[in-house]
Amino acid sequence: MLILLTNDDGVYAPGLRALNQALLHAGHEVFVAAPETEQSAVGHAITLVDPIRVRPLGPPAGLSGYAVDGTPADCVKLAVSELMPRPPELVVSGINQGANVGFNLFYSGTVSAATEAALMGLASLAFSYNSHRDQDFSQSAHIAARLVGLYPRLAPDPVVSLNVNLPAVDLAKIKGIRLARQSTARLGEKFLRRTDPRDRVYYWQAGETQSTDGGSDADYPLLNDGYVTITPVRHDLTHEDELRRLGTLTSLLNWPMD
Ligand code: MN
Repeated sequence: MLILLTNDDGVYAPGLRALNQALLHAGHEVFVAAPETEQSAVGHAITLVDPIRVRPLGPPAGLSGYAVDGTPADCVKLAVSELMPRPPELVVSGINQGANVGFNLFYSGTVSAATEAALMGLASLAFSYNSHRDQDFSQSAHIAARLVGLYPRLAPDPVVSLNVNLPAVDLAKIKGIRLARQSTARLGEKFLRRTDPRDRVYYWQAGETQSTDGGSDADYPLLNDGYVTITPVRHDLTHEDELRRLGTLTSLLNWPMD
């Protein structure tokens, strides 16, 4: 397969390098278009006001493609529209340093690269590793490459991205692979308040992912329990039940309004 590989941790991130190697090893053709600098938590942002500069990645980097001075969603749009010789058969984002679970998906650049691909009608997967510290991605990359190999048989609707989280435990301790719904896990509200060398106050986002969702079918509990989790996600935000309920109240929404 021709795979577009991107991420939000930037082109120098070890998770991207490890996944690139694993995908090449599995016999895929890998085209990298990844952010020049870290873009974690930029969500689905795109760059409109500034130019987007690109830098070819040479063989010394072990990567084939471009570093892009933009967001993860920029990378996907630009790669598919301008940089790639032909459209990719699959867009793969990751492997992110840190899990992407629960409501954190809305902030995630990693997941947004995959959902941007879905908006373009392209098959897509996002991979994240449940550690902010451990930088050995070899085992996770191996699992990710196996799941990429399975993708054509899983064949989800391309409007869906598969959001995969990988546990930070030894291969022998991984309990299995579980399909999971998005949990309600979210970053706790916490800021460090400090002063800079000129005595000006600044704040630093310091929340950790908290979960009150104990559901045995939910992404974060299953991930922390040692399972690889797969969540099919989409960007249709319409709440169908509310659409129907509000539909019974259309007499309040007459035009012209009283
Ligand atoms: Mn990241």
